[in-house]
Amino acid sequence: MIAGHVGIAAGARALDRREADLRAPLLWLLAASAAPDVLDAAFALGQYCNPAGAFSHSLPAAGILAAIVGVAAFLHTRSAATALLVAALVMLHLPPDYVTGRKALWSGGPVIGLYIYRWGWLDFLVELPIVVAGWWMLRRTKYTPRWAVSGLMLVALLTVQAAFDISSQVNGTRAPRSCTR
Ligand SMILES: [Zn+2]
Repeated sequence: MIAGHVGIAAGARALDRREADLRAPLLWLLAASAAPDVLDAAFALGQYCNPAGAFSHSLPAAGILAAIVGVAAFLHTRSAATALLVAALVMLHLPPDYVTGRKALWSGGPVIGLYIYRWGWLDFLVELPIVVAGWWMLRRTKYTPRWAVSGLMLVALLTVQAAFDISSQVNGTRAPRSCTR
């Protein structure tokens, strides 16, 4: 899942009904929702083989990542509730990825997932309502800054998603070169 993760973070922010100054910063929720993909990208940049996301998307990898990002969020916000929400969002990265992609449950373990990335149009149809719902929920909370919930932001997110789906449809989704030695 690509843009859908942003929708999930926005939805989580909208559902945070604590006093305004206690609410989890959206940036932390976005960082948590995207953390496994950021790590994945770092491995790819370093040309380090990360087969089926074993070191970024497996249960142990996500668990460690959730702990690290959760502790960092606690040190920054001094809120245990925010830290738990952030850690939970890291783990919540995994279920939608089992729909869109294929991920190892642990290193060397079974690789599961429907892998709808192979049908770009279907992936777009699955991610679209998640992005729109998250954006709409956050927009309704009178969220500031308003640019984050502007129509332009929604169009930008859906454009990124469409570009990804079209490119994976045209080029296919290949394993990173670092894994094909
Ligand atoms: Zn992912």
